[in-house]
Amino acid sequence: MAEQSHHDPTHTTTLAEAFTVLPNENPASDAKRQELIDKPAFGQVFSDNMAHMSWTKGEGWSDRRIEPYAPLKMDPGASVLHYAQECFEGLKAYHHDDGSLWLFRPDANAERFQNSAKRLYLPEVSVDDFIGSVAALVRRDAAWVPTRREYTLYMRPFMFASEPFLGVRAPEEVDYCVIASPSGPYFAGGVKPVSIWVEDQWFRTGPGGTGFAKCGGNYAASLLGEYRGIDNGCEQVCFVDAATKTYLEELGGMNMFTVHKDGHLETPSLTGNILPGVTRRSLIQLAQDKGHDVVETMIKLDDLLDQIRSGEVTEVFACGTAAIITPIGRFKSEKFDVTVADGGSGELTMQLRNDLLGIQLGEVEDPHNWMWKIC
Ligand SMILES: *Cc1c(COP(=O)(O)O)cnc(C)c1O
Repeated sequence: MAEQSHHDPTHTTTLAEAFTVLPNENPASDAKRQELIDKPAFGQVFSDNMAHMSWTKGEGWSDRRIEPYAPLKMDPGASVLHYAQECFEGLKAYHHDDGSLWLFRPDANAERFQNSAKRLYLPEVSVDDFIGSVAALVRRDAAWVPTRREYTLYMRPFMFASEPFLGVRAPEEVDYCVIASPSGPYFAGGVKPVSIWVEDQWFRTGPGGTGFAKCGGNYAASLLGEYRGIDNGCEQVCFVDAATKTYLEELGGMNMFTVHKDGHLETPSLTGNILPGVTRRSLIQLAQDKGHDVVETMIKLDDLLDQIRSGEVTEVFACGTAAIITPIGRFKSEKFDVTVADGGSGELTMQLRNDLLGIQLGEVEDPHNWMWKIC
């Protein structure tokens, strides 16, 4: 895809205009909205409006609109409720100090949404419709984008097979929506390392499965493992590959990196089991910009444990849109319990976090033109 056009602010202006803005008789009062933004409960509170468009087998996508946020009417026989034909995305709208609103690499999310759709036999949403719908909702609910540092409006595009039919087949009716939820810093009291449960009994995906697609089914499959981790005193779970139980893949919703004594980084290669994170991809670039080699490779669990014990691996972190970077302080399973270095937040880990956050908040230069100005 062309990397050039997106610094022309009129580009996204045009895209957003494909979505008709419908009236909203019942927006939250200014006071109520401010209260919800100041004390965000991630994913529990939503803005006044949503983007919506509909697809049918005969007509393709139509009826692009920004409408009042409201429960969806759905037939109990809707295919998604039975066969999980659903995929989603997650990205944030950022407020900059001059009052402008921005998205970070929405073209990368648009592209990934198409790849998820293909895997699930859902119709593709064009890059223009994807970015246009998100941009149109950000503009409509601009007052919902928090202005405090590290507070953002989390945007959740998703689509699902909505026609009532209990046979298993390619969908004939699909709904696509974008909703928005004000969110605060992932770590309210400052960044804190997490403990990771290494799960080798239950897997979120496997070879030929849906690991590379951002779909609800992967999350449903991850929960039993997640709760085994929680029952064992860990905050997050890292899954190993289902075929050989040998290689580390990723967390339930975050990718992973290791930092080595000689300064190089490693991250599990995109085998098809792993979700290709936009944060992962961006951090590879930023680490390389700082002169660090980054190796995408199969990471053997046993090797990593040895390298942590010997001091060869000095930092480990997880990454994703929500938390940006989460330092990993400890790995645990029924067979081991190892602490990474002193169990604290690594130096390069925190530098990379600040670098990426600085770009997203417009506080430092954006050398790769990742930011899209929405309004
Ligand atoms: C969304 C997601 C990530 C992180 O992707 P980002 O684009 O960086 O937010 C990682 N793993 C899984 C399973 C995910 O669903």
